[in-house]
Amino acid sequence: MTANTATAPQSTPTTFNALGLLPELLRAVAEQGYTEPTPIQRQAIPAVLARRDIMGSAQTGTGKTASFALPILQLLAPHANTSPSPARHPARALVLTPTRELAVQVFESFQAYGKHVPLRSTVVYGGVDMDPQIRALHGGVEIVVATPGRLLDHVRSRTANLSRVEILVLDEADRMLDMGFLPDIKRILATIPAQRQNLLFSATFSDDIRKLADELLNKPILIAVAPRNTAAETVTHKAYGVSGEDKRRALAHLVRSRDLRQVLVFTRTRLGANRLARGLERDGIDATAIHSNRTQAEREKALADFKSGAVRVLVATDVASRGIDIEELPIVVNYELPYSPEDYVHRIGRTGRAGSSGEAISLVEPEEYKLLADIERLLKRSIPREVLAFGGAAPGRGVHTETRARAHERHGRDQRGERRASPAHPHRVAPASKAVADDGFDFNKPYEPANDSTVASTRSAEPHPGRKRRPTRETAVLLGGTRSK
Ligand code: AMP
Repeated sequence: MTANTATAPQSTPTTFNALGLLPELLRAVAEQGYTEPTPIQRQAIPAVLARRDIMGSAQTGTGKTASFALPILQLLAPHANTSPSPARHPARALVLTPTRELAVQVFESFQAYGKHVPLRSTVVYGGVDMDPQIRALHGGVEIVVATPGRLLDHVRSRTANLSRVEILVLDEADRMLDMGFLPDIKRILATIPAQRQNLLFSATFSDDIRKLADELLNKPILIAVAPRNTAAETVTHKAYGVSGEDKRRALAHLVRSRDLRQVLVFTRTRLGANRLARGLERDGIDATAIHSNRTQAEREKALADFKSGAVRVLVATDVASRGIDIEELPIVVNYELPYSPEDYVHRIGRTGRAGSSGEAISLVEPEEYKLLADIERLLKRSIPREVLAFGGAAPGRGVHTETRARAHERHGRDQRGERRASPAHPHRVAPASKAVADDGFDFNKPYEPANDSTVASTRSAEPHPGRKRRPTRETAVLLGGTRSK
């Protein structure tokens, strides 16, 4: 692919009018309140309209959905008709997404942008009854947005006919590969016409993504709207040094002291997400969790409650968060740093969207220093360390909380176990939440890179049952100390 790749021209139209979109689409865009196209829209829309394959490097929040949805609607518009006959509405565009949430979001975008064009679209994802999806597919739809597993079920049971697909979109392709969807994607590809237009979007470009792009794309135009793996410039990053046992209190303090009304908080594990949401509830802060173990209905309710303001804190895991779209989310908190620095970029892609400013706060315990350094390396900038002053707990409270949490973990551990190895680092084991914070850590000590074996062995250590707990301090102090720039 590399030899054939072209880069999008630098001088691109700066208004939606100049992009050559149909009046029906311009109207819909104006109704959405968009005044000018985002950089990826400026580059991708003309390329897709010219029937080119695309390899788009774009993080969420850049407006990438409209960058493919608008031109697809335009390319299919000549086929738009109001005939009741299913035969007049074959599936012509197929969009694959990693999660149900993203599928719904993309589908809703097609509906919003395609409001004045009589093209039909539907969304297909797992975890819900197949029958309504079968009915929608049978009725005829030009645009199908789907997660790969469920779509394959429909293909196998012959309830989806993809033999007329002209345009294929792989959205968040990196995440689809991370989630193990490659075999399903390949099976789906085998059922659609080889002659088609392919659009691949990915926030990161691993070797696997490049390999897939090589196989899939034909002389693609490469569109990169932000330097590879760079976070939105509008986001302010901060790291507070907090021991593992103090994190929840620190978070509760942040929420209360700043009167935060809508905070997205990330944990590494599903059980961790549940535990934190419940802990916050006990602390009197309305919170809920969203992760892949919850049912579709539970996930939708959690998201709806968060959007409506019924809950202030939404705790999410990396995978579940991918489809969350909330306009101008002001703040994202990393309760635990991700093992893969790219996931940090994805996480904070939830804030500072489309030009609005956002804040990314990380609560970092000593054993996460190395992860923070990895993130800084990827972002090519340092994240300021700051002090978070918050009241201390009565002595012993932390111990009590810990005991309850561990009891809960014993009962609540799912079949795969909470402390799964990270997919990106199969050799690493996620730490116990308390980990080694009592090990006499000096928070003022500058960051010292630990080698992986040290990190791995430290992380897998259970808290020592006989170890005396250090009295809880009044204040969590500086992280990183005299760290040189
Ligand atoms: P996406 O990257 O597709 O998830 O889009 C991120 C957010 O930006 C969504 O909430 C869109 O509604 C919004 N958006 C997309 N295009 C524009 C635009 N041209 N101007 C303002 N907002 C936009």
